[in-house]
Formats: sequence, C-alpha cells, structure tokens
Amino acid sequence: MTAQIAVLVGDGIGPEVMEEALRVLYKVQSHFGLRLKLTRQLVGGAAIDATGVALPPQTLQACETSDAILFGSVGGPKWAFLPPERQPERAALLFLRRHFSLFANLRPAICLPALAHASPLHPRIVMKGFNILCVRELTGGLYFGEPKGISEEKGERVAVDTMVYRESEIRRVAKVAFDAALLRSRHLTSIDKANVLQNGVLWRRIVDDVAAHYPDVSLNHLYIDNAAMQLIRNPCNFDVLLTENLFGDVLSDEVAMLAGSIGMLPSASLSARATPQGRFGLYEPSGGSAPDIAGKGVANPIAQILSVAMLLRYSFSTSQSAVAAATAIENAVCSVITEGRLRTADIWTEGTTKVGTSEMGKAIADAISFQ
Ligand code: NAD
Repeated sequence: MTAQIAVLVGDGIGPEVMEEALRVLYKVQSHFGLRLKLTRQLVGGAAIDATGVALPPQTLQACETSDAILFGSVGGPKWAFLPPERQPERAALLFLRRHFSLFANLRPAICLPALAHASPLHPRIVMKGFNILCVRELTGGLYFGEPKGISEEKGERVAVDTMVYRESEIRRVAKVAFDAALLRSRHLTSIDKANVLQNGVLWRRIVDDVAAHYPDVSLNHLYIDNAAMQLIRNPCNFDVLLTENLFGDVLSDEVAMLAGSIGMLPSASLSARATPQGRFGLYEPSGGSAPDIAGKGVANPIAQILSVAMLLRYSFSTSQSAVAAATAIENAVCSVITEGRLRTADIWTEGTTKVGTSEMGKAIADAISFQ
C-alpha cells in the first residue's frame, strides 16, 4: 500500500529547508523500501501570490486525501498588511489545525552535548545535553473556551477568556503522552495549576486515571510555576512533559530556547484520525519562515529534516521500516553534528566548520546508514 504525503513548502526559508528534508526523505525511501507518494501543494504567502488565498481548495483537498502533511513555514512581511483572517498563519496553518482537530502538539527539544555551547544555560548544567519531549494540548483550554471577548461594564472595559477542559480532551492527549513515554525513558511529568484552578484539579485526576493503564511509566505532577523553574535548574531531570494549551505554549518555547537554536527543533501535531499505518498528523519546524535569513542559503535545515523523522515515526508507526528510517535520520543528524563538526550559522562556534543549508542537508543524507 502506498502512503500519501502532502508537502506544503510555504514561504521564507520554507523552500530552502524543505529541499533538504526531501533529499533525506528520498534517500531513506529507496533504502528502506517505503512506498510513499508525495504531492507538492501551494500554501501561505506563495499561495496568496499565485491564487489569492493562503489555503487553496486544491491544497486542502490534497491534505484531506493524505496520511500526513509535511509543512514548511508560512508568513512574512509581504503579507502582514492583509486583514488577519486572510494572513497566511491564520488562514492556512491555524485553519489546518482546527480543520483536522490536531489536538496533540509534540515538540522534542534535544540539546546534543556537542551543541551545549548554544544553550543559554551554564555549561555545568547542559554539559551532558538533554532530550525533552513537550506534549501540549492544542485545541482546548483558554484559547478556545467561551464566553470570550471585551465588553463594557460600569464605564470600563472588561476582558473575558474562559478556560474549559472536558475529561475526554484531557484523556486523549494524556494517552498520546504516555504512549510517547513508552518509546523513551518512561518518565512523564504532568504540569498543571491544581492548587488554584479547577481545570488543574480535573487535569490531575484524569492523568492519574490514564497512568493506571501505563504501569511501566513513572509519573509525577508539578505546578506550572515550579516546572518553569525546575526546567532551567536541571533540564536533564525531564523526559516527557504533558501540559494544557496555554502552559504548553509558554513552556515549549522555554525548552526550545534552553536547547539552543530553534533551527534544530521539529514538531508534530497529531489528530485522532487513524491512518492505515498510524495517525494523521502535520509535521513542521518549531520556528517560522525566518524572513531575516530567507534566500541566503544559511538556514539550518535540521528542524525540517527531523520533522520528516517524526512523520515516519508517528504517522507510519506500525511500519517497522518507517520507524527504522526515522531512527536512521535522527542518528545521521547526531553523527554530522557530533563527529562531522559541521555547523550552520545559528549553531556555529570556534573550531567547527560553518556550512550552508544545502551542505548540511547533503551531509546528513550522506551520513544515513542502513543497518
Ligand atoms: P522565526 O522563527 O521565523 O524567526 C525567529 C529567529 O529564529 C530569526 O532570527 C530567524 O532567523 C531564526 N530562525 C528560525 N528558523 C531558523 C532556522 N531554521 N535556521 C536558522 N535560524 C532560524 O519567528 P518570527 O521572526 O517571529 O516570524 C517570522 C514569520 O514567520 C512571521 O510571519 C511569523 O508569523 C511566521 N511564523 C510562522 C510559523 C509557521 O509557519 N509555523 C511559526 C512561527 C512564525
């Protein structure tokens, strides 16, 4: 059976880094015998320029008939003057998240020991590197709860946002996090504000319920304020973090910063929809279109390349060859950074070799080993 992947390249550095990700994907596809059909579609500012809208119907249709979406990045100053509802980020990316109910956002933040210098933390803390997976609930909580708005009351303006979580929403994202923990070091930290918020009390109860089905995963709970501190104090103590939408928005950026460059970090947004070989999802770098460096050939392609590895691991999780291909990609990235000492500008330091986007992509494709 051939799996379908919609490739949405987008704007800014999107086309440059996607080219390298596809170079790597083609390499593992032939060697691991993966039967994939890729369909390139317009999205974002590039789609506005060509068709007038950020998500043309043909692009949406291709996504609907695919098993996974490989996404570049969208947006940039050229389209920032448009009304918000027509701008690439909202009309394309946020629309896709809603349309496909992409409720679980997974962001691994890996700080390789060889890149510890890029982290703002003291070398004593990050010398050995760290590997944290943030699992953030993406379609509930304060961002979506009703009522919401700004109104006039007794002569002054009042803003209201509502935090609502249903048991089913907590349960499904918790399962994703526990499943992910099973594939890693089997330790999960759930983060809430149960000492103040009723949402936190329910969150904790449901996570405890789900934990009963995962006896091999150790679980601890932290309040969000303490978690923000402990992550800076000792990121090596964490494996999988599970949290709700707003806390996850903030914490995943904190952890990304601790890891060094945003150019290294992939992400996956998973839906409940099962595909013949796994779960439907959208895979993209954690950063944006980086207009300040677009077109210069200097962007780090590793976030986009590792997004391909996540796509193979999560959307084709029942295929042993796809999971082996994902591991081969991750190992190749590690070996180019650690042994090859090649660096794009964002992670360069004295004594290493500075390379551009395509040299980095080619080195990673060449480093893929097929044992
Ligand atoms: P950004 O992530 O694009 O850039 C922030 C900084 O990180 C810049 O200095 C940039 O050069 C650097 N950077 C990002 N990716 C890099 C890479 N691969 N290699 C090296 N350096 C990299 O964030 P921003 O500047 O706030 O946003 C720029 C545009 O991207 C905006 O239009 C924003 O709305 C859009 N955006 C899109 C997405 C998305 O498509 N998922 C996400 C965030 C921002």
